[in-house]
Amino acid sequence: MSGVSERSTHVVVIGGGFAGVACARTLTGQPDIRVTLLDRNGYHQFQPLLYQVATAELDPADVSYDLEQMFAEHDNVQVRTADVVAIDPQTHTVSLADGDTVTGDVLVLAAGAQANFFDVPGAAQHTFPLYTLDDALKLRERLRAVYTEAAAEGPAGAGEITFVVVGGGPTGVETAGALAELVGTILPRQFEKLALIRSRIVLVDHGHAVLGPFGPEAQAYAAQQLQRRGVRLRLGVTATEVGADHVILDDGTTMPTRAVIWGGGVSAAPLVGESRMPTGRGGRIDVRPDLTVDGHPGVYAAGDAANIPGPDGLPLPQLASVAQQAGRAVGFNIIAEANGRPRSAFAYHDKGIMAMIGRGAAIAELGARHHELHGRIAFAAWLGIHAYLMADAKAETNAFITWAEEFYLHPGHCPERLLTPPVTASAARSAS
Ligand SMILES: Cc1cc2nc3c(=O)[nH]c(=O)nc-3n(C[C@H](O)[C@H](O)[C@H](O)COP(=O)(O)OP(=O)(O)OC[C@H]3O[C@@H](n4cnc5c(N)ncnc54)[C@H](O)[C@@H]3O)c2cc1C
Repeated sequence: MSGVSERSTHVVVIGGGFAGVACARTLTGQPDIRVTLLDRNGYHQFQPLLYQVATAELDPADVSYDLEQMFAEHDNVQVRTADVVAIDPQTHTVSLADGDTVTGDVLVLAAGAQANFFDVPGAAQHTFPLYTLDDALKLRERLRAVYTEAAAEGPAGAGEITFVVVGGGPTGVETAGALAELVGTILPRQFEKLALIRSRIVLVDHGHAVLGPFGPEAQAYAAQQLQRRGVRLRLGVTATEVGADHVILDDGTTMPTRAVIWGGGVSAAPLVGESRMPTGRGGRIDVRPDLTVDGHPGVYAAGDAANIPGPDGLPLPQLASVAQQAGRAVGFNIIAEANGRPRSAFAYHDKGIMAMIGRGAAIAELGARHHELHGRIAFAAWLGIHAYLMADAKAETNAFITWAEEFYLHPGHCPERLLTPPVTASAARSAS
C-alpha cells in the first residue's frame, strides 16, 4: 500500500455508519496508521431520511453513499464489504461471514443498533421496523402493494385502510406525519382511483405524550400537528401482540391493519451482546469517557453501539450527531496513542434535538439549553442540520436539497414512484 508504512498501526473499524465513517475519516492521511473499514452493506446509510424513502419522497440512492468511493482518495483506508459475525476483544480479531478473519492493533466497534421488539409476540415477524435501507424499501413495497390493490378493488372493496405506528418517539412521530401526508393528501390528489379510499394512521404509545425527549410545549405541538393531519393518537396503551393483519392492545382492543410500523425502540447490534464486553442500558457497550472499553486495551466503541457518558453521567442519546462526534474523537485518540500522547475524554457539543412532523411543521430544541422553536423556522433548522450532517459525512447533498425545495414549495410532487416497485436495496441503488 503506497504511502503507508509497513510497521503502521492497523485499526479495524466495524460499521460504516456515522461513527465508523467519522473515525476512518479522521485517520485518513496518517502515514503510520492504516484502517480496514468493514461494513456488511458497503454503503453508508443516512438513517434520518429513511422514512422519506419509505414514503417515496426520496430514492434509495439519495440516502446511501458508497463507502469505497468515499475513501477512494485515501490509500491508508481499505473498505471491505463484509458481515462481521464475531469479535474477540482480547486478540482484536473479527470473524467474517465468509470464513475469513481480520486482526488489528486497535478495534473500533461502531456497528450501530437494531430494532428492539421487547419480546412482543409477532412483532419481529409482522412489523416493519425502519432502521436500514432494506427496511425502508420493504415498507415502501408494502404501501405500493396496498394501494395498487385498493385502486383495483375500488372504495367498496378496499374498505378503510389502517396503518398502525407503534412508538411515539421521533421515529414514530416523523413516520406517522409523513404517512399521513402521503395517504391523506398526496395519493388522493394524484390518483383519481384513490380519491375515495379512506385511509387512517393510528399512533400507539404506552406513554402519555409523544416525543418523550422533548419539553411539554413541543410535545403538545407535535400531538396537535399530527391530529391536524388526521393521525389518531392512542396514548397510554401498549401493543401486546402483532399478527399479519391486526394489532392487539393491552386495553383489549384488536385493530385490523394493513401494516404495523415499529418505532418502539432500539438495542445494540447483536454482535455487541456476543462480544463479552461490558454492556449496560439497551445492551450497549459501556465505554469510559475516552471511549475505550474497560478491561479491553485497544478496543473503542462509539455511536449507537455504545453507552457514552454525558456531562451528568447519564448515557448520551442515540443521535447521528453524537455518533459522528464520538467517531471523530475515537480517531483523535487513536492518533494520540500512536504518537505516545495521552487520550482525551470525549466532550459532546450538543446542537440540540429536532423532529419533523410534516410540511412547515417541525420542532427544534436548539443548543445545549434546548431553546424551543416550532413551525416553519424549526422546519428550516431541521433542513439545515440534516444538510450539515450529510455534508460532514462528505455525502452528496444535491438530491436532499432538491427534495427539500420541492417539498417546501411544491406540495404533492412525487409519489408516482410509490407505485413503481424497487425490489431490494442493492437493485434500487444500482437502478438509480
Ligand atoms: C428512522 C430514524 C431516524 C433518525 N433520525 C435522526 C435525526 O433526525 N437526527 C439524529 O441525530 N439522529 C437520528 N437518528 C439516529 C441516528 O441515525 C443514529 O444515532 C446513527 O445512525 C448512529 O450511528 P452509528 O454509526 O452508531 O450506527 P449506524 O448509522 O446504524 O451504522 C452502523 C453500521 O454498521 C454496519 N453493521 C452493523 N452490524 C454489522 C456487522 N455485523 N458487520 C458489518 N457491518 C455491520 C451497518 O451496516 C451500518 O452501516 C435516526 C435513526 C433512525 C432509525
